[in-house]
Amino acid sequence: MEFNVEIDRYSGFCNGVVRAVKRAEENLSGKENGLLYSLGAIVHNNSELERLAKIGLRSIDSTQMQSLKNVTVLIRAHGEPPKTYQIAKENNIKLIDCTCPVVLQLQKRIAATQGQIIIFGKKGHAEVNGLVGMAHSRDGGNVVVIENVADIDKVEPSEIDYSKPITIFSQTTKDPVEYRHVCQAIREKMHSPEQLTINDTICKQVVQRHSRLIEFAKNHSIILFVSGKESSNGQVLYELCRSHNSRSYQIESLQEIKKEWFTDGDSVGICGATSTPQWQLEQCATHLTQTLK
Ligand code: SF4
Repeated sequence: MEFNVEIDRYSGFCNGVVRAVKRAEENLSGKENGLLYSLGAIVHNNSELERLAKIGLRSIDSTQMQSLKNVTVLIRAHGEPPKTYQIAKENNIKLIDCTCPVVLQLQKRIAATQGQIIIFGKKGHAEVNGLVGMAHSRDGGNVVVIENVADIDKVEPSEIDYSKPITIFSQTTKDPVEYRHVCQAIREKMHSPEQLTINDTICKQVVQRHSRLIEFAKNHSIILFVSGKESSNGQVLYELCRSHNSRSYQIESLQEIKKEWFTDGDSVGICGATSTPQWQLEQCATHLTQTLK
């Protein structure tokens, strides 16, 4: 079979994830039987997690962290709510804080905001939990998380009062176009639309990837999107590919690739999320070249 393969040069780890993985590797380097705890998966990608587990990185959840004392725990790029820092202090846990500077900035802005806050983000996502924790650390003022336009109608009147000022923030990895739609829908509900303050808090790296990925998806006859199914950013970017190229497939491992997806003369584009390591994109390209040709 004849085909071309191109890896999207803008795909792969974002700066925040690169920084967290590098800090974990540095901490474990040269240590035989080294062990470092990571609060939550350092990256939503099972292949990368397996690689890091082999050098001693062990993911734990917040309940497990509460039972640990005198150990070192890495805080991943998503950040954490204030409660986590409190537990670390009480349990004499040393933190390697890899909260992405962009997320940290967003947390500070939320902590400094008065009144009602809406967060456009994925409910239960680690970054969103951290942002909600920051909002709760203020003196008063409700906070509500909405995932999409449809969610707005599910908000109870006791949660948000549209006759009063509202400030909205977005999780850093959400879709910028959807954020505009959400803001517009909220504005239409406000008694005085000028009382809605919109903060542009989607990560610039994510915004740039959206426009570049659209071009990439259009320029290839078939797209292989490599990403963990748990990755929030992965879901958003994969849907973006699919909306511009109907032959887009999301895969987590090479075993999921099916020969019947491909036809002779295909131009195959390989891309991924901010949590997809470069080595996995390259591995995918090599696999195609070896098995389909
Ligand atoms: S997507 Fe942006 S804000 Fe989020 S961790 Fe990566 S660099 Fe930081």
